[in-house]
Amino acid sequence: MSIPNAIYPGSFDPITYGHIDIVRRAKKLFPRLVIAIVANPNKRPFFSITERVKITKEALAETGVCGIEVISYDGLLIDCAKGIGATAVVRGLRANSDFDYEFQMALTNRNLDSEIETVLFMTAGCYSFLSSSIVKEVKRFGGDIDSFVPKIVEEALARKF
Ligand code: ADP
Repeated sequence: MSIPNAIYPGSFDPITYGHIDIVRRAKKLFPRLVIAIVANPNKRPFFSITERVKITKEALAETGVCGIEVISYDGLLIDCAKGIGATAVVRGLRANSDFDYEFQMALTNRNLDSEIETVLFMTAGCYSFLSSSIVKEVKRFGGDIDSFVPKIVEEALARKF
């Protein structure tokens, strides 16, 4: 049986330690894991797609996570997954509030392509509160985000605010 390649899609606006924890754990299950950053999510992104790809790559390098490709995509996730030969979609689950959305997306994607499975990783307890929005909110008002994001992300946010 062949082990599937996986795609980890999201906004990554910006990447946090919560995302990186999912990457580290998913990497153990999937020999090839590609982070796919959606170019135009409905929520208007704070960082441009070019910035998010660059920040994500640098954050992975800073935290010693190697061998992960970072790409951007536009359009249907399923098309991007097929394009790179991925048959698993990695996503993370924090609270109940994530579940409804992840459930809907997983079933939609399975309807679009029954060969692609969504694999949901439970958040690490210590990151269960953590989101890109919280990080931006705390930084906007001058709070300390050292334990939420790598230094490179903190610097990118500092330049923007
Ligand atoms: P999206 O806009 O597609 O939700 P995000 O970058 O916010 O993109 O999140 C991408 C994925 O990572 C989602 O499945 C989200 O639930 C998961 N995720 C984000 N932060 C955490 C965290 N702290 N713990 C676990 N999963 C997380």
